Amino acid sequence: MMEKYEAKMCPHCEQEMVLEVASYPMGSALMKNRFHVDIYRCPSCQRVKLFAAKSQLVTCPVCGTTHHINEGCIVCALNGAYTTDKR
Ligand SMILES: [Zn+2]
Ligand SMILES: [Zn+2]
Repeated sequence: MMEKYEAKMCPHCEQEMVLEVASYPMGSALMKNRFHVDIYRCPSCQRVKLFAAKSQLVTCPVCGTTHHINEGCIVCALNGAYTTDKR
């Protein structure tokens, strides 16, 4: 890979993950604010990890998922589908 990008390390095998798909648009095309992610894959364990493609990232204090600051936590959003909780 000759392209410059931030090295993403696999948290499981501490190996550098390779960029599979850059700026993949998540969600429906009807959504105004689409969530773009870079999809990285670990060549060792084949795990994939998503990183928000643009600028500001925050780490969810609840589940530790990294997501865009303008977007809700995907994991917690899914959890919220099962539990009617605080907003
Ligand atoms: Zn791995
Ligand atoms: Zn979360």
